[in-house]
Amino acid sequence: MRLSKAFVKTYKEAPKEAEVISHKLMLRASMIKRLASGVYSYLPLGNRVLKKVENIVREEMDKSGAQEVFMPVLQPADLWKESGRWIAYGPELMRMKDRHEREFALGPTHEEVVTDIVRNEINSYKDLPMNLYQIQTKFRDEIRPRFGLMRGREFIMKDAYSFHTTHESLDEEYLNMKTTYENIFTRCGLDFRAVEADSGSIGGDVTHEFMVLAESGEDDVLYCDSCDYAANKEKATSKADFKESDEEAKSIELVETPNTWTIEDVAAFFNIPTSKTVKAIVLKEAFGENDKYYMALIRGDYEVNTIKVKNLVNAAVELEMINDSDMEKLNLVKGFIGPVGLNNENIKIVMDESVKFMKNFTLGPNKKDHHYINSNISDFKYDMTGDIREAKEGEKCPRCGGTLKIARGIEVGHIFELGTKYSEAMKANVLDENGKQATLKMGCYGIGVSRIMSAAIEQNYDENGIIWPVNIAPYEVDVIIPNIKDKDQVRVAEDVYQLLKDHNIDVILDDRDERAGFKFKDADLIGFPMKIITGKSIAEGKVEVKDRKTGNTEIVEIGTLLDYVK
Ligand code: ATP
Ligand code: MG
Ligand code: MG
Ligand code: MG
Repeated sequence: MRLSKAFVKTYKEAPKEAEVISHKLMLRASMIKRLASGVYSYLPLGNRVLKKVENIVREEMDKSGAQEVFMPVLQPADLWKESGRWIAYGPELMRMKDRHEREFALGPTHEEVVTDIVRNEINSYKDLPMNLYQIQTKFRDEIRPRFGLMRGREFIMKDAYSFHTTHESLDEEYLNMKTTYENIFTRCGLDFRAVEADSGSIGGDVTHEFMVLAESGEDDVLYCDSCDYAANKEKATSKADFKESDEEAKSIELVETPNTWTIEDVAAFFNIPTSKTVKAIVLKEAFGENDKYYMALIRGDYEVNTIKVKNLVNAAVELEMINDSDMEKLNLVKGFIGPVGLNNENIKIVMDESVKFMKNFTLGPNKKDHHYINSNISDFKYDMTGDIREAKEGEKCPRCGGTLKIARGIEVGHIFELGTKYSEAMKANVLDENGKQATLKMGCYGIGVSRIMSAAIEQNYDENGIIWPVNIAPYEVDVIIPNIKDKDQVRVAEDVYQLLKDHNIDVILDDRDERAGFKFKDADLIGFPMKIITGKSIAEGKVEVKDRKTGNTEIVEIGTLLDYVK
């Protein structure tokens, strides 16, 4: 491409409404153009960045084994009513009616549509696991659209949905996606962290967000410098209903048990007659080479007959709901979580069957309290004499005892183990290996493709403009002719331009009839990673090569130029 022909209109100043640096620079550098609040066009330079991010995402998703699909933005309300989200999603869901007064939503996410496809097309476990993804426009009527592409009302997301018949398979794909996301964000040149997260309106239990640490981020991330603990503050501060006077909670004991224990062993250990319901809940340490099991015993006046341990075999724990109409009794759950979290790290309640029931059970008035079930205990700070406290900067890391630090983060990706939330509501079943109908287990995995553009700039800029990470730069190299009237400069620049193009280097030629200083300023503002300048040194068969990030300049023989660029 030649800048003389390109649609690039740069500005010295950004409009007043642009608050953060990425928004200002994207407007000044002619990347995007606002149409309405939270709605933007991508101009040629911005569009190239977007496509490069998309390609990285697509390549890594394909590599992971996921299959690309393309689903409709326009979605019938009936599907959303089936999942319960027509109401639950609230005003962020863009709604409309067609000419026959039929209701529709503009997709903010696609769990309903994809579940509908799979329930109709997939009937057997043999076709699973399967992960379907798309890169597509999403609509969310954000209450505060702002910061340009960072929080749009129309934006580009990569969303993926996986389907499984077993939990192990879901766990496996979750890890596969986690690694895939790490590869994607690394290739995009981002400095990021995977943090434990809140699942919001999507629902689900196990979930991580990928945060780009930057001042303009809208989330607070608590992280530990000594270990890899990191959590969204939203999650780290979830509060339970604990009262200081909660004697039952205080009297809970934690006992490490061998994983070969049977129900009888458990009962004997706690001195409980086997004829009675076992007053214990088994926890499995969720990581480490040797699985450890923990037994939390309630020694209160609780008549704990809501849950009984039915079976305990190797890694799996089976719990049976005895009286699931008696919700009150489930209060015992809050009884053991705190103290366990105090002494141990990353312990997970592993109760496959009962989770279904427990998930619908709210421990406290706050929806976030759902996380007390089937999530990592290390997130919760419990103090035996009081409430679960907010994890704060400067405290004890709940995992290793190190010191917690706080940073602002931009959420660029989010992965969830949804379990059966949607498949159950929408009756998505397949025949399992035993020929029985099994409810599908699902995972979902999102990336803010357009938000990555903003996040990359928030981390890579200086007083002169953007410093694009090379893999997502609109062009990798800007060949600048300082003086267009100088025929030798033009000839050498044209040769270099052709040479780089021949070697598949993404290059643009600044052949505009403008002052050299103006061209350099534009190059810095737009953020091309490398400038090649055909200045005085061409007399010696050399050109100037300038690195945008370091500012280093080298005089390079044209013959060896490719070594520099590649
Ligand atoms: P946020 O907390 O920023 O509102 P979210 O948690 O609502 O995001 P998800 O439902 O997890 O978003 O969607 C997956 C990804 O889509 C997010 O990780 C984010 O990168 C991106 N995203 C979400 N909302 C927007 C938006 N309004 N504009 C641009 N990207 C967005
Ligand atoms: Mg949101
Ligand atoms: Mg979020
Ligand atoms: Mg999210």
